[in-house]
Amino acid sequence: MSQATAYIEAVKQTIKQRDPNQPEFQEAVFNFLATITPVLEQHPAYIAASILERLTEPERAIQFQVAWQDDQGRMQVNRGFRVQFNSAIGPYKGGLRLHPSVNLSIIKFLGFEQVFKNSLTGLPIGGAKGGSDFDPKGKSDAEIMRFCQSFMIELQKYIGPDLDVPAGDIGVGGREIGYLYGMYKRLRESDRGVLTGKGLSYGGSLARTEATGFGLLYYLEEMLKHNDQTLAGKRLLVSGAGNVAIYAIQKAQELGATVISASDSTGYVIQEAGIDVAKLKQIKEIKRGRMSDYANAAPGAEYHEGSLWDAAVKADIALPCATQNEISGEQAQRLIDAGVIAVAEGANMPSTPAAIAAYQQAGLMFGPAKAANAGGVAVSELEMSQNSRRQADSFATVDAELKEIMQAIFHKSVAAAKAYGLGEDYDAGANIAGFTKVADAMLAQGW
Ligand code: GLU
Repeated sequence: MSQATAYIEAVKQTIKQRDPNQPEFQEAVFNFLATITPVLEQHPAYIAASILERLTEPERAIQFQVAWQDDQGRMQVNRGFRVQFNSAIGPYKGGLRLHPSVNLSIIKFLGFEQVFKNSLTGLPIGGAKGGSDFDPKGKSDAEIMRFCQSFMIELQKYIGPDLDVPAGDIGVGGREIGYLYGMYKRLRESDRGVLTGKGLSYGGSLARTEATGFGLLYYLEEMLKHNDQTLAGKRLLVSGAGNVAIYAIQKAQELGATVISASDSTGYVIQEAGIDVAKLKQIKEIKRGRMSDYANAAPGAEYHEGSLWDAAVKADIALPCATQNEISGEQAQRLIDAGVIAVAEGANMPSTPAAIAAYQQAGLMFGPAKAANAGGVAVSELEMSQNSRRQADSFATVDAELKEIMQAIFHKSVAAAKAYGLGEDYDAGANIAGFTKVADAMLAQGW
């Protein structure tokens, strides 16, 4: 066993002992560690400086109580988190997730991934994540507001425009950011740069709403081009129906592909002629409805209960944009059998380790989340920079910067994989390119 392999094994043992009940966190870290052995072999200085121990333990993890009043006048209590993972290259940056599944393991996996994703953007931002096990489903607007206000009363103690800048994630969109920002402003000096994903009327950036979905397609386009393929005429499967999925579908169709699916937690829709994005936006963003409501409103859309990844429909490309671990090994094999040649991840860690192994064995083009969905956080940083300058850039300017960043991420990943003899492994390449920048910054900053 080489020194690097032994070192990685020791780091894994520590995590297993320290965090035995954090399966998502272990999955994210172990997948990452499996790809960086060749880097450690060539850079013993990383081992000597205990870089991996320091990178796999959050710099700070905060848990707090969020008590809020429901519409019946009852007091409800949820658990809030903010995990500030690593600040070697800039202030902590990462979204807030509101979903009943949220726990420390999930927030830590997301925060860990965010460190390397943010590094890959080339912008000066460290990694963090936060959220709560609050379930926004079925809550009234007033309940959402009271929850967000209560959440911010605690969170404001730990964030700031040069310290930690939260944004949205699952369950947190423009409405929630507005309520969070409104409360922050009542409690602290009103600095717009403390949150991103804000509304355009109070410091938000054009193209932030579209950024993750558009960025995913810019990354995918570049990956296809590198492999002498194009998007035009391709059949795409997209899962999810939130912010990432909606703008991924829109951009894919603008680029000449047909997106035949969208889904939510109870079911999915197949629509051979292509998803009607305007209708999907209306149902999901304005009416906050379900995919079954979309199917009733869109002629030719067939609604099915269950997972899209069990559907076995013929397609060329799959874009999982729903949530973590949505594609199992078996479902990945189903996609391969259905003719899929590329997978690019819009959600964070949507493919299980078995799914990734299946893609790699079948020689699929695989764009991992930390590279393919980095467009959201990249435009968040552009929003921070516009706020500091007290200026607002045009849609075209931000969109062009986003495209350039996504293309650069793909090429950085290719170059890193090549430099370590890993061929066309864009997953390992993204991990290595994201990791080396953070590790070098940590080394430079000393003990
Ligand atoms: N939640 C998004 C992500 O997973 C965006 C984070 C941000 O804009 O800070 O990258």
